[in-house]
Amino acid sequence: MSTHMSKLIIVGASGRMGRALIENAEQMEEVTVVAAIDRPGSSWLGERIGGVQLTGDLSEHISQADVVIDFSAPESCVRAARIATQAGVRFVSGTTGLTAAQLEEVEECSKQAAVLHAANFSVGVNVLERLVELASAATGESFDLEIFEAHHRRKVDAPSGTALFLGEAAARGRDVSLDERAQWSRHGQVGAREPGEIGFQVLRGGDIVGEHTVFLCGDGERLELTHRATDRGIFARGALRAACWIATKRPGLYTMRDVLFSRS
Ligand code: NAD
Repeated sequence: MSTHMSKLIIVGASGRMGRALIENAEQMEEVTVVAAIDRPGSSWLGERIGGVQLTGDLSEHISQADVVIDFSAPESCVRAARIATQAGVRFVSGTTGLTAAQLEEVEECSKQAAVLHAANFSVGVNVLERLVELASAATGESFDLEIFEAHHRRKVDAPSGTALFLGEAAARGRDVSLDERAQWSRHGQVGAREPGEIGFQVLRGGDIVGEHTVFLCGDGERLELTHRATDRGIFARGALRAACWIATKRPGLYTMRDVLFSRS
């Protein structure tokens, strides 16, 4: 990790992730939070989270920052990406639910300053994603590949974005398209498993933070690659690690793979 002291602005600061980011950042020597931004009109404006007071205007503070970290909402993510990168400030975002056009706009901003957008900032999940691609390539289609995920009862989408991220890695490992190989559900007389399918299984219940297992089932052996999240702080810590890493990077679009596996 870089030893550079990075000045951070957190966008979406009163949210679950925003608060986790501020709390975790306050325990790190490598970063300092110089401003915390929330939605204009938010009842949190003027309140303090940790040592920082919440304000509603990113532009007013942008000149103080090395990196903006955004965990807010799609529209504010795009706006924050523009404001940060136009000022030459690096941008890290974990906001999900962006349309393809919004994502493209955020990616376009990387021409002006370094940008990293990731749907999952957990270090473990990003290591798992790489392992899945390797295992999928090495085993080939003689091993049946299935992805299981479990989340709390309040989760509204399925399979999880992380399961899809792992599915894409599995498909890439075999040089196939996930859209063509995905088997989203099985019920009734579905017939024997088609070779090369990538199956998804979903469990919902209780307060499970997030579990993902990729099964590779061969004849006479089975490989299971599992990640279990027990604390949402993993996303905040991963995003802070990414912010430290990107603080000295040139303009360009980066991923968590770059943070975890590149040597510079
Ligand atoms: P949340 O609803 O608790 O917080 C969102 C915050 O953004 C709120 O404080 C809200 O007031 C603020 N906000 C909304 N509009 C804003 C604006 N215009 N300007 C500034 N702030 C604004 O949600 P959360 O659980 O903290 O998650 C936030 C985002 O991060 C979601 O998209 C979620 O899916 C995503 N997320 C990503 C990861 C990951 O690893 N990539 C992990 C967890 C959550």
